[in-house]
Amino acid sequence: MAIKDNPQPSRGRLIGNILFLVGAALLFINIFLPNLFGSSTPQVPYSLFIHQVEEGDVARVSVGQNQIMYQTKEEDGRPAQVLATTPIFDLELPKKLEASGVEFAAIPPPRNNWLTSILGWVIPPLIFVAIWQFFIGRGGGAPQGALSISKSRAKVYVPGDDSKVTFGDVAGCDEAKAELVEIVDFLKSPERYTQIGARIPKGVLLVGPPGTGKTLLAKAVAGEAGVPFFSISGSEFIELFVGVGSARVRDLFEQAQKQSPCIIFIDELDAIGKSRSSGGFYGGNDEREQTLNQLLTEMDGFAAVGATVIVLAATNRPETLDPALLRPGRFDRQVLVDRPDLKGREAILRIHARKVKLGDDVDLHTLAARTPGFAGADLANLVNEAALLAARNQRQAVSQADFQEAIERVVAGLEKKSRVLNESEKRIVAYHEVGHALVGSLMPGSGRVEKISIVPRGMAALGYTLQLPTEDRFLQSEGELRGQITTLLGGRSAEEIIFGDVTTGASNDLQRATDLAEQMVTTFGMSKVLGPLAYQQGRPVAFLEGGMTPRRAISEQTAEAIDQEVKDIVETAHQHALAILRQNRELLEQISHQLLEVEVIEGEELQVLLSQVKPMALATPLTA
Ligand code: ADP
Ligand code: MG
Ligand code: ZN
Repeated sequence: MAIKDNPQPSRGRLIGNILFLVGAALLFINIFLPNLFGSSTPQVPYSLFIHQVEEGDVARVSVGQNQIMYQTKEEDGRPAQVLATTPIFDLELPKKLEASGVEFAAIPPPRNNWLTSILGWVIPPLIFVAIWQFFIGRGGGAPQGALSISKSRAKVYVPGDDSKVTFGDVAGCDEAKAELVEIVDFLKSPERYTQIGARIPKGVLLVGPPGTGKTLLAKAVAGEAGVPFFSISGSEFIELFVGVGSARVRDLFEQAQKQSPCIIFIDELDAIGKSRSSGGFYGGNDEREQTLNQLLTEMDGFAAVGATVIVLAATNRPETLDPALLRPGRFDRQVLVDRPDLKGREAILRIHARKVKLGDDVDLHTLAARTPGFAGADLANLVNEAALLAARNQRQAVSQADFQEAIERVVAGLEKKSRVLNESEKRIVAYHEVGHALVGSLMPGSGRVEKISIVPRGMAALGYTLQLPTEDRFLQSEGELRGQITTLLGGRSAEEIIFGDVTTGASNDLQRATDLAEQMVTTFGMSKVLGPLAYQQGRPVAFLEGGMTPRRAISEQTAEAIDQEVKDIVETAHQHALAILRQNRELLEQISHQLLEVEVIEGEELQVLLSQVKPMALATPLTA
């Protein structure tokens, strides 16, 4: 698929340059020529002038504001001279001149030179234009003239190129693909639909988290449909100058209509489509509002012309969009592009693995199972990371081990060998992580403990315990949530038992545990005391700009009860974790010592160790 920029009118650039040159020339004339002409009269100090006046050597004087010109008398063969001096503020001068009998007059104001006065009017705007052009030229990247600012900067993909993206390059979002296949069909044979009287949808909005392939899908639509494809990002409409965005929208739709049937793709639609009421105290952003209004007008308008133009747009923040955009006749179709499931992830890995040499041991299915929550872009990144690792180690093909390490890299950030813990910190981190692992191995719903490490990673984690789910989960039971909270508190509980003291290292665990507990009470209705009510109000409120109302209006007693319940859940989990670790104290010591020596325990070795954990004989059942 060839990308070519919109043809820029080079005429505009040329005119701009000529204006600039003319301006510079006139400026030169205006500033320097007067000095050239004026510098012919010799200058003398004012004191000499007064002296000559008092001596009676001066014949006549012309007094100007900035200059005094005078002529000396002809005296014994010495010719008369014309001299100039710069006046000082001297009220006595007329008297002195009169006393010496000098003929004097004021210099008439300079006859207004037509050139000078025209220059006075012409030059300032020229300077402005020159500066303006300078900034636009820099901001645009592509060559831009002063007159082309209102052109849309859409990239045009022309059909008939071989490097095009097709639906074969996209996987893991089958429903979205099915919807878009229909759109392609509309574009290929619109008569089939119009003949029955069906209205071709005008706007299709792709909605989904970042990296799930929205942009990729749009390109695939263009590739499959074989029609021109105008692609532009929402932010490219917005410029410093009010009115530019709407002019660009107009230009874009004008061009698209000429090339009908075709597709307009607006990526990151939220940049212009933000709800108009969300502008805050200043009455909104004028430029964005005008641009949005223009977009709405164009979308309403082009059907009347009978052109087959389909507007595709993508956003990962549909909740911020102006409701007017979603009305029938505009983006009335919304296609959800969600994170891929197990099968989807395997298919996406397969697509990207085509580009690298795979070893015989690589099992994409296992890799897919280990990467729940990864979006398409993460998986593409994963394959690349694995290939980089293999290349760095001088291997000919990418092995399963490379993929394993790449997963950890993507999950936990790159290994930070440079951060060094001192011995006592290392001990604390080791016990903390083993605490998580021991408790986690007993808890339902928190996945298998795959690895314990005290090698610092990423920005925050000093050590970490890697638990990977063995399958995709969509529902979690109360017992499982309580299990997760208990596992989160395992680290801190180990510190308490071994050192009788706690450190700041557990803050993130506590935050997550508390958040989970609060969600259980206020969102999932899992509290016996408070009942199955949703206290959290998830509805976005327009004037808060992306904010949520924190809670339904509740009484003080209810608020207190919520706090009490959250505290109860976390504290119960805490006691539970403590009990498990006390019961398995020897194992805790043993594994921690081992971890301090080798820094990382994983795989078979870890499973053997964790299989020795003694489960609790609970006095009270977990979910009480
Ligand atoms: P989005 O626009 O949704 O943020 P992109 O379409 O820009 O995501 O995806 C970025 C890259 O990730 C793509 O170029 C592609 O390599 C990869 N990718 C994302 N989703 C998929 C998918 N569903 N199938 C194949 N590759 C994908
Ligand atoms: Mg995108
Ligand atoms: Zn922890």
